[in-house]
Amino acid sequence: MINFNVPPYMEPAKDYIAECVQNQKICGDGPYTKKCNEWFEKKTGTAKCLMTTSCTHATELAALLSDIKEGDEVILPSYTFVSTANAFVLRGARVVFVDIRPDTMNIDEKLIEGAITERTKAIVPVHYAGVSCEMDTIMDIARHHGLTVIEDAAQGVMSEYKGQALGSIGDYGCYSFHETKNYSMGEGGALLIKDKEKAEEAEIIREKGTNRSKFYRGQIDKYTWVNFGSSYLPSDMNAAYLYAQLEKAEMINDFRLSRWAQYYELLTSLRNDERIELPTVPKGCRHNAHMFYIKTADIEERSALIAHLKDNGIMAVFHYIPLHTSPAGKRFGSFHGADVYTTKESERLLRLPMYYGLEEEQVAYICDKVKEFYK
Ligand SMILES: *Cc1c(COP(=O)(O)O)cnc(C)c1O
Repeated sequence: MINFNVPPYMEPAKDYIAECVQNQKICGDGPYTKKCNEWFEKKTGTAKCLMTTSCTHATELAALLSDIKEGDEVILPSYTFVSTANAFVLRGARVVFVDIRPDTMNIDEKLIEGAITERTKAIVPVHYAGVSCEMDTIMDIARHHGLTVIEDAAQGVMSEYKGQALGSIGDYGCYSFHETKNYSMGEGGALLIKDKEKAEEAEIIREKGTNRSKFYRGQIDKYTWVNFGSSYLPSDMNAAYLYAQLEKAEMINDFRLSRWAQYYELLTSLRNDERIELPTVPKGCRHNAHMFYIKTADIEERSALIAHLKDNGIMAVFHYIPLHTSPAGKRFGSFHGADVYTTKESERLLRLPMYYGLEEEQVAYICDKVKEFYK
């Protein structure tokens, strides 16, 4: 059986975790959390990185920092995970869904401006499959209308847009280290903050509304409750598990990219025969092989292909059901304009196995079985 995903694990992780246990440093903001924060700040060039308990929580933190309130509107794609919308719905905002581009499955930047009203507060681009949205256009629109940009870069760790790390382009960037992502700590995430001024406020909200982070750095002699807040800091053991992968981040990225390239090459003949479609990576985007997907003719063909692959021991899966068609999506949001691509393209998309450790022979076997289906 070839699984769809196998969570990444790097050998020194068990020693790093043992070290946390032996030193009795398993709570939040220990040495490994700091190492992770610093690693991302250096790698992405962002002013501040704060490790969180999930990407969901990083996005909630970003919504609080952006002062999203009841009656505000937030623009995002419908083709995304529920957390992208929930973070703003929890603040009382309405989510306004905009159609996607069929080539990247990302929000169509050309449709954003038409969805802006005087209530609009933020734009939330989601970098699907680790392939960047058209950030130059999105940042221009945001600047022109005075809107905050919160990047859902859950799938975009190690990806770039015109040389800039995804997550470091907007005001805030949210990463996920869930076990289905390229780098994992079981459950976890990170918030990247562009403006250093906002970093202190973020530290306070993340630490239950207290200035405990400043206290630990010796900048003040006692800590107190200074603002509203919650608890968004992960255990240092989880950070230790992740840090072992960050030390090998390039190697993991190269490994995934080579499997992605292999899929692409082996399936190009089917694409040339117009049986399937393959993913597009626009010029200027450096992706991270988070996902390899193909597009079938329609949902029936996709179901038949999933069954064929399963019969051959291969787990292939579809992805998001558009949020605007769900009960909560209807209640908390609305689709702006026509749904030309969101539903249609989501029904055609099929994800093939992709993980660190997937073997070359397995990719060849999977491609053989896809081709067998189309014979
Ligand atoms: C995985 C994912 C999330 C949620 O990440 P968690 O760390 O599980 O909270 C949010 N948005 C997108 C696009 C994702 O892929």
